[in-house]
Amino acid sequence: MGFRGSKGELWVDGQWRPAASGERLPSLDPSTGQPVGQLARGAAADIDRAVAGARAAAEGAWGATSAAERSRALAAFGDRVAAHHDELAQMESADTGKPIRQGRADATVAARYLEYYSHICESIAGQTLSFERGYQAFTVREPLGVTGHILPWNFPLQMTARDVGASLAAGNAVVLKPSEDACASALRLAELAGEAGLPAGVLQVVPGLGEEAGAALAGHPGVNHVAFTGSPEVGSLVQAAAGSNNVGCTMELGGKSPQLVFADADLDAALPFLVDGLLINGGQTCSAGSRVLVARERYEEVAQALAERFEQLVAGPPSADRDLGPLINAAQQQRVRRYVAAAKERGVPVLAQGRIAHDAVSTGFYVAPVLFGPVDPQDALAQEEVFGPVLAVMPFDDEVHALRLANGTPYGLIASVWTADGSRALRLAKGLHCGQVYVNTFGAGGGVELPFGGVKRSGYGREKGAAALDDFSSIKTIVIKHG
Ligand code: NAD
Repeated sequence: MGFRGSKGELWVDGQWRPAASGERLPSLDPSTGQPVGQLARGAAADIDRAVAGARAAAEGAWGATSAAERSRALAAFGDRVAAHHDELAQMESADTGKPIRQGRADATVAARYLEYYSHICESIAGQTLSFERGYQAFTVREPLGVTGHILPWNFPLQMTARDVGASLAAGNAVVLKPSEDACASALRLAELAGEAGLPAGVLQVVPGLGEEAGAALAGHPGVNHVAFTGSPEVGSLVQAAAGSNNVGCTMELGGKSPQLVFADADLDAALPFLVDGLLINGGQTCSAGSRVLVARERYEEVAQALAERFEQLVAGPPSADRDLGPLINAAQQQRVRRYVAAAKERGVPVLAQGRIAHDAVSTGFYVAPVLFGPVDPQDALAQEEVFGPVLAVMPFDDEVHALRLANGTPYGLIASVWTADGSRALRLAKGLHCGQVYVNTFGAGGGVELPFGGVKRSGYGREKGAAALDDFSSIKTIVIKHG
């Protein structure tokens, strides 16, 4: 890595600086478990400073920019990110443990977010309203001021560009707390934003522990909106903290997303998505397709085809670009191992298991992929988010049963329906309780244009697409009496 963020500094007011306490935290390489760098241990004093600088930017020159000026600033930022594509891809892969091809995809998507929000920034608009005779009423969209962002470790590069792109397009200044497990790319993006000419204070990045820097940001009275991506448990804490200031939140929480395979599905087309929908990022994806629900008459065939694929899967070092890399840290590795061991003890049948490559360092946080089936719909593997390379497959009897199983978890993030029957696809798409439905495909890579977010325990509010601009702005109604 070798840039100053990886040597334990934070990015505030357009400069590298140490945490106010001078303290640092170790940064571990997930593929070896060994320390490879340091990160600043930002805390309340750093968040205070970052929020004050962001407020000055939001109420100063940045807040006064036209949409065209913000569009050009975001475009320049995006160009800078695109020009550093390979460096960012390597950094993301090394920091998170994901295979290098995924790091490259993430770098491409990060630049695309900034390009997209630079384009749609100029179409933010209000409405002309019908009202009583003698009046003219209309709305304008206004920035909120300072938005606080708390992000997880699984897609830090993409998510930083996603949140920052939308919030800056809406005219806010951003204070971002990346995960203590992977914050290099967020810091590097902030530095690139400075190089691209974004004014100081517009994008502040303060790494640190969740209960210190994260909690300070979530409850800071100078923050006008909190966007959180992470676990439902921490999401509750963040909402309570933001609620103490009566500000709104965007909550992108977990999922247990189903892929529904009907008897008339094109299995050759579906199979790669059934596997990759889970395996992307080693299963550490909120929108992972971690449940496969199959029409009973084709259950054996699908289970067998999945098992053949799972037996070939290999976890290995990020640079070797195998099917998956290590998980992010020892706690995640142990958590996934516990899920697997407990399911085996309960007698959930193992259909197949992948392996860990010989060149994987034994102290790295690797877990071999496991396919379980048939899994009882009430089993923990069918109900809880494992956040690792564990796939649960189960049969359904008919369309009504399929929908009941698909909707039968506390989560509702995304889903897919594999069928040749267009009417059925539409019925299912309408009946599924979630934020995105795919038909005869699953997920959409970055999907920067597509509003994304959940219902139920998966959260609320929308990131991505033009919908994110609604969360990061407010509507002002203006009424003029002209007689
Ligand atoms: P996490 O909730 O532990 O941490 C997320 C962020 O919150 C980190 O930056 C962490 O430092 C911070 N944090 C922790 N405690 C905090 C506190 N008390 N106050 C404020 N901030 C605090 O999640 P994780 O382990 O990093 O990520 C895994 C989880 O995130 C999974 O449940 C996954 O489904 C979810 N996730 C959701 C999405 C989505 O878009 N829906 C995307 C990625 C991950």
